[in-house]
Amino acid sequence: MTAQLIDGKKIAQQVREEVALAVGRRVSSGKSIPTLATVLVGNRADSAAYVASKSKACMELGMGSLSEHLPEDATQAEVEALVKKLDADPEVHGILVQLPLPAHLDEEKVLSLISIEKDVDGFSPLNIGRLAQKGREPLFIPCTPSGCVYLLEKSGVKIEGAHVVVLGRSNIVGLPVSLLLLARNATVTICHSRTKNLADVIRQADILIAAIGKPEFVRGDWIKPGAAVIDVGINTIPDPTKKSGKRLVGDVNFPEAKEVAGYITPVPGGVGPMTIAMLMKNTLAAAELQSS
Ligand code: NDP
Repeated sequence: MTAQLIDGKKIAQQVREEVALAVGRRVSSGKSIPTLATVLVGNRADSAAYVASKSKACMELGMGSLSEHLPEDATQAEVEALVKKLDADPEVHGILVQLPLPAHLDEEKVLSLISIEKDVDGFSPLNIGRLAQKGREPLFIPCTPSGCVYLLEKSGVKIEGAHVVVLGRSNIVGLPVSLLLLARNATVTICHSRTKNLADVIRQADILIAAIGKPEFVRGDWIKPGAAVIDVGINTIPDPTKKSGKRLVGDVNFPEAKEVAGYITPVPGGVGPMTIAMLMKNTLAAAELQSS
């Protein structure tokens, strides 16, 4: 292996410790406990697991957690009423609606009810708009993208002037991570399902951010020697050698890529742990913003 492994688990743990210390200081100064409310609608096992790990993280860091769960057939009015109630509650500092919502619900309408001060996911158009404009500051940066940038910075990868190729243009990963890197003076190329000669574009990347949800899609010979590779993908593939019969892989073929890249994140243990750490950081920042 030639690449230096970027240990997301370790770096996320450091962020969590910093947040826990700051929470302790805040609470001992008489201020309220930073509290995150999560809203889960329906019975998706993956969504339930994500929400549970976010609540667990809150508890571990001395933060408050309020878990709301509505049934699969909850109406638009019921979901909206819950989000409005949480938004008006002064003891709730951040609101996270776990996506995707069941298909009959209007996701955009639900998310628009979260005020910008409590939008710890950073997905509101106002936050993304501020992220996109020069000289403007978003209140919260979406957690997975900020986790990717944090990993690069902590690993000493130079972003300014680097050619970054972002594979994927979703609202939650590809687009915001592109904007963040552009703001750090990288030259950013965004690729998607209609991009031509994808492998050739990726070969030009000093930094590759892969976020498409396709198992081991990026091959080792697409990677520029020495490049930094941040693999956001989380995909389950069959593996008869495992007791569970499956395992997690990223969007990059790790065994091939680690022989060429200069830096690489593993899956699991790379970007994944950073997402929750950044959510905790955002929740603390939300409490500070709302103060008292
Ligand atoms: P989306 O499905 O929302 O977006 C996928 C993007 O990839 C789209 O822009 C799509 O292009 C592009 N794409 C799909 N297929 C190809 C292809 N063959 N060639 C080039 N581009 C392609 O995914 P997300 O952004 O939500 O998630 C991406 C991955 O990251 C998933 O594996 C997800 O599980 C993971 N993830 C991990 C997180 C973490 O904490 N580590 C958090 C969030 C996501 P187009 O726009 O043209 O359709």
